[in-house]
Amino acid sequence: MLVYLNSRLVPREKAVVSVFDHGFLYGDGIYETLRAYGGKLFLLENHLARLKHSADAIALTLPMPLGAIGEALNETVKMNRLDNAYVRIQISRGPGEIGLDPSLCPEPTLVIVAKPYTGPPPEVVDRGVAVAVVNTRRNHPRALDPSIKGTNFLNNILAKSEALKANAYEGIMLNWEGYVAEGATSNVFIVQNGTLRTPSLDVGILAGVTRGLVLDLAGRAGISVQESAFGPEDLAVADECLITSSIIEILPVTAVDGKPVGTGAPGPVTAALREAYRKEVIHG
Ligand code: PLP
Repeated sequence: MLVYLNSRLVPREKAVVSVFDHGFLYGDGIYETLRAYGGKLFLLENHLARLKHSADAIALTLPMPLGAIGEALNETVKMNRLDNAYVRIQISRGPGEIGLDPSLCPEPTLVIVAKPYTGPPPEVVDRGVAVAVVNTRRNHPRALDPSIKGTNFLNNILAKSEALKANAYEGIMLNWEGYVAEGATSNVFIVQNGTLRTPSLDVGILAGVTRGLVLDLAGRAGISVQESAFGPEDLAVADECLITSSIIEILPVTAVDGKPVGTGAPGPVTAALREAYRKEVIHG
């Protein structure tokens, strides 16, 4: 495996960063995860735009122009001879003296890792997954804005740990007011009387690239969509529920807190969206 480190590809054994990197010391950094299909990065421009949003939000100067970052991502996939891949780019504040002042770090650290994609097995996808509404609340936007895709991930790790303890695939976090926000690494949707609903961005969530595509695909398929706040009680009585991310794409959720969603099997709206997503991957 070749890892892209700063401006070159190096064997994974040589891909090491300083213990004084503020990414390691403080979780001071940003990242993106994306998929490559047939060796081509999916929705690359959307991921680059969000990377820029995250960088600006923490006043991190990107170490190279966005176009060059895109080329580095492509090169990493190509040189690892990957077809269907998981790709992660991380830019940390870089090495510097101990202390919180970002100006202690003159050079950010850029790392790109690409590896063969191994997702949930097809039977899991076909059956759907269980989720748990967790006690850990999503970060308040005025504490650590969830629209920043930051490497400071304890909020999400605590949520995921709670979910795993409850034998659930994903932990659904509520926001500071008790509305459904998002999963530890996914956005959440429900279907109620034929309408596809997902929390609006002002609930305090990541503007998922997949979330955006799913809303678009639903609109194009004539499915009515609603972006607004809803509570955990709506999850419990929804006809369908699904979670999305670039890595898992669209996963049906068939149980919430141990109780079946709808019929307990993936529903027709989820199936239609999954089909539309697949077409987008092939032709998009
Ligand atoms: N929400 C959170 C907290 C995430 O970490 C992720 C992905 O990692 C998502 C949502 C889904 O985002 P995307 O569809 O852009 O992968």
